[in-house]
Amino acid sequence: MSVPLLKKSTNPENEQCIGDLLSKGKLLLKRNGIENAEQESLLLLSYLLKMKKIDLLLKRHFPVSSIKAKRYWQWLRQRREGYPIQYITGFQNFMGLEFAVSKNVFIPRAETEILVEEVIKLIEMIPEEEPVSLMDIGAGCGVIPVAISSYFKEKGRHIDFHAVDLSSDALKLSFKNARRFHCQNNIHFHQGDLLKPFIKKEYFNAFHGIISNPPYISKTEWDSLSDEVRLFEPAMALLGGEKGVDFYKTIIEESPAFLKPGGFLALEIGHQQKDIVSEMIRGNGIFEKKIVTFYDYYHNDRGIIAFKKNLELK
Ligand code: GLN
Repeated sequence: MSVPLLKKSTNPENEQCIGDLLSKGKLLLKRNGIENAEQESLLLLSYLLKMKKIDLLLKRHFPVSSIKAKRYWQWLRQRREGYPIQYITGFQNFMGLEFAVSKNVFIPRAETEILVEEVIKLIEMIPEEEPVSLMDIGAGCGVIPVAISSYFKEKGRHIDFHAVDLSSDALKLSFKNARRFHCQNNIHFHQGDLLKPFIKKEYFNAFHGIISNPPYISKTEWDSLSDEVRLFEPAMALLGGEKGVDFYKTIIEESPAFLKPGGFLALEIGHQQKDIVSEMIRGNGIFEKKIVTFYDYYHNDRGIIAFKKNLELK
């Protein structure tokens, strides 16, 4: 009896197993000059299929539905054009939390985690029994208030946060992220220009700390930014005027009225702005002379903390 020849499987999904999509995706990105083609094709598929990267590698032979595969190709094509990967997946990790992002907001950067860590240390110096009030100026997708609030929530401490942004899209996303991490009851959202929404008696001398990662790119730096940033991230969240320091000027001038005596102003800064921002703070006369500065992971100047004089003690 003759044995029929085994035919190759006719399963149409064969063409679309995880391993196939990964290698084709990598090739497409690589051909278009994307540096981390392998990692990015893996990251995109991991978000798309809601699977851990390690599981994708373990299940390379698993079929992927043609709808998902089509979506994957759409994502790869967007990425090929330089569209930021975070806007494609809709997420950016910050302090280990997955924040929803959209093309209307600045993509949170790892450097800002250092600002958050510094602020957490300052808050931990405030006596446990004292209710803490904080403000974040230019909240974007809300990483600063949400990360800090959720840290203290875990520790059983309530922080009363006020987050302000000019963009209503950013505020919507901030609120969504606050809900995502169950701290929507800790954060009050205000739409407006810098400190303007706080010009009310109840907010004067009311805050233990004011925090901001304002737009700080100068005109000259703007031209040297990568296309990925310049063409796709919102310019209003990046540009800080001619020298990049316009927002610091207003924040430094106006924040003391809202800080409690001894309260802190914690700012992220551009790597060449330490001197100019320190001078603004010293020139103001309402802050203590002693200013704390900190570096980012590359040892660039990245932040400044100043304290409002504790006039009551003098
Ligand atoms: N505070 C937000 C962040 O740090 C947004 C900053 C901005 O839009 N410049 O990510």
